[in-house]
Amino acid sequence: MNLIRETINRLKLYRPGKPADQVERELGLKEVTKLASNENPLGPSPRAVAAMVEALKEVRLYPDNDCYHLMKAMAKHLDVPEDWLIMGRGSDEVIHLLGLAFVNPGEEVLMADPPFALHESTAVVMDGVAVKVPLKDYMHDLGAMREAITPKTKLIFISNPHNPTGTMVTRREVERFMDGLPQGIVVAFDEAYFEYVDSSEYPDSLAYVRQGRNVVVLRTFSKIYALAGLRIGYGIAPPNLMQHLRQVRQPFNVSNVAQAAATASLADKEQVERSRLVNQEGKRYLEGQLRRLGLKFAPSQANFIFVDLRLDSVAVFEKLLRQGVIVRTGDIFDFPTHIRVTIGTQADNEKFIAALEKVLSQGV
Ligand SMILES: *Cc1c(COP(=O)(O)O)cnc(C)c1O
Repeated sequence: MNLIRETINRLKLYRPGKPADQVERELGLKEVTKLASNENPLGPSPRAVAAMVEALKEVRLYPDNDCYHLMKAMAKHLDVPEDWLIMGRGSDEVIHLLGLAFVNPGEEVLMADPPFALHESTAVVMDGVAVKVPLKDYMHDLGAMREAITPKTKLIFISNPHNPTGTMVTRREVERFMDGLPQGIVVAFDEAYFEYVDSSEYPDSLAYVRQGRNVVVLRTFSKIYALAGLRIGYGIAPPNLMQHLRQVRQPFNVSNVAQAAATASLADKEQVERSRLVNQEGKRYLEGQLRRLGLKFAPSQANFIFVDLRLDSVAVFEKLLRQGVIVRTGDIFDFPTHIRVTIGTQADNEKFIAALEKVLSQGV
């Protein structure tokens, strides 16, 4: 008899980006620049840091299970009732809760190929079937995804912008997708990079929640709010769905430190604006430099760029590492000649371009 559940054999281990201090230790380098995990180079709001310091004095206690202050601030920020919200240990946890609440064994979970890794593992861990629909020109192919719906489809993930490509699906495309969608399917819009989007074509996914559709919107404090290390994200859904996500959530899942930091971050609009501007300028700079180097890349609405180097990305990764720059290789996404690079500060971006140019001139 098998000790473990059979479906566990189908799970791949998550491979995170390398931590900078590990690379520094291993290669004896100083000042390694990590552009591998889409973290905000500016760091969190000083107000959030002050709130965290205060909250540290209370860690003897279990956190507020209802996230009272944060929920009030979030409801105001998003203009939705509090019972439409759930806080998670990162939006990753809310993705997992979607699987726990909705996916029976054998049911299908639809997503792009390559998907965001957690979308697939959530399907598999529930003994569901991950149905993956290839990207078209680096973008979700919502037409093909719509055609891939079967009577067994239970949950659909649309990451918008997508990770690893940074591409966006438009309001029109989403309208067409949602129009006449069969009953009994939950659509999850994973909007981890929501605050970075600067396109006027971006869909208003919250409108579907307001209409009472079976829609869950996922957002996070990890990206523009620069709180990735604290693990805090959230979901927004109509109360009839939310009630079931709450049933499967573990108590005390969000620490008091994370709650305090998130609440203070929401109040600091300038920090968000600054982060957005640094990202926009960085994106413009990097895109210009990549064009100068004759490289193709996916159109990004996020804080990273997916670039085709037309070279083995693992070999390039190793060479960039030796120059103190960590990026993400495309091989794990079945794009073996691509890398995903996070947009950093201007200094980070210049260091990356100089390192890349050196690798390209030397070859791999
Ligand atoms: C970064 C990311 C997340 C989640 O991050 P958390 O830190 O768990 O909130 C979710 N979805 C996508 C597509 C991401 O890139």
